[in-house]
Amino acid sequence: MIDFKKLAKKYSTPLYVYDFDYIKERYLDLKGAFKARKSLICYAVKANSNLSVIKHLVDLGAGCDCVSIGEIRRAFLAGAKKYKIIFSGVGKTDEEIREAIERDILMINIESEGEFERIEEISQNMQKEVRISIRVNPDIDPKTHPYISTGLDENKFGVDIDTAKRLYIKAKNSKFIEPIGIHFHIGSQLTELEPIKEASLKIANLVRSLKVLDIDIKFFDVGGGLGIRYKDEELIKPYDYAQAILSTLSGLDLTIVCEPGRFLVGNSGYLLTKVLYEKVNKSKRFIIVDAAMNDLIRPSLYKAFHEVEVLDKEGEKNRADVVGPVCESGDFLAKDVPLPKTSHNDLLVVKSVGAYGFTMSSNYNTRPRPAEVAVFREEEVLADRLIRRRETFEDLIACEKDYL
Ligand SMILES: *Cc1c(COP(=O)(O)O)cnc(C)c1O
Repeated sequence: MIDFKKLAKKYSTPLYVYDFDYIKERYLDLKGAFKARKSLICYAVKANSNLSVIKHLVDLGAGCDCVSIGEIRRAFLAGAKKYKIIFSGVGKTDEEIREAIERDILMINIESEGEFERIEEISQNMQKEVRISIRVNPDIDPKTHPYISTGLDENKFGVDIDTAKRLYIKAKNSKFIEPIGIHFHIGSQLTELEPIKEASLKIANLVRSLKVLDIDIKFFDVGGGLGIRYKDEELIKPYDYAQAILSTLSGLDLTIVCEPGRFLVGNSGYLLTKVLYEKVNKSKRFIIVDAAMNDLIRPSLYKAFHEVEVLDKEGEKNRADVVGPVCESGDFLAKDVPLPKTSHNDLLVVKSVGAYGFTMSSNYNTRPRPAEVAVFREEEVLADRLIRRRETFEDLIACEKDYL
């Protein structure tokens, strides 16, 4: 058990805490599920881009899936091998493309014909070959939240199958573009296997038809999106996930690339926050805490549910909203959840915040972002280590103060 009280005392609140042993377990689980084939797990850095989190996964053998040159630089800083880094995203700038080519990463995931042309021109100017994959939109409903669904015609991601085929032929005839991969990613927080299998089959058939054209794809990138438990979701087991994908690939010699973010880090994270006040307006009960939407925006942004526990408090539970100090009605961490009566300085733990928690945080209301701490077993004792110091007011004004 993690001693949250000790951590809150040592590092103060609000505080992000990540269980590194749990992350390791998740990584090994997924890696093991694909053991029938060559595989590369590329951690989706955007889920939690703390350098120590990336390094932890890189040390286990993971590569990185990056969506900006900033994330690529983080991956390199964390020690990721260049041949395990992928660059995805719909809006890569010329500068980003140039640097990615210079750094000689495994492949750039192309998301449009326009991007293909930019990459071709840039690689030609640099007289340097670039390895690519194409993100194909399989037009499949992943049955997840519309904000995090990405594999439908109506979404901005990837190209349709016919365009993909045309681009692969173009790549084959290009001197500087080497097509080595194919990619799809149908959404996030996926809890149903069928759409994944369907997408995989569609893309596998595309690989087969490319083979006929003498275009030999080596990396089959199935994206990320594996769901995790926030409340009571039925989940896909890594083994079943891998089997569903592998079952579509008979006769094809491919290395599986998988880009999980949430699955690896989501349930590893806790946000510790202290009670400032309790109050009742009319009949509504509010617990006001020192963390807010700027620290964790998922409840406000996606109506996401995060379990909240009050430590060391017994007694009758009544419904309350857990809200922060930010001046927005949308500033809440939990709504209408049963919690015991709290008092000043009681400690609350908000759970499953390891993915899209800190990375989506902001300084709104001039609130310095929290510190981040890793916990891990070391010779049977639970050790902790600061992996990002708490921001200060000075940090927040650093880019402005010289322009007064
Ligand atoms: C966001 C993203 C991922 C990771 O998604 P999770 O739901 O966190 O697993 C993987 N690949 C791509 C291309 C992404 O955009």
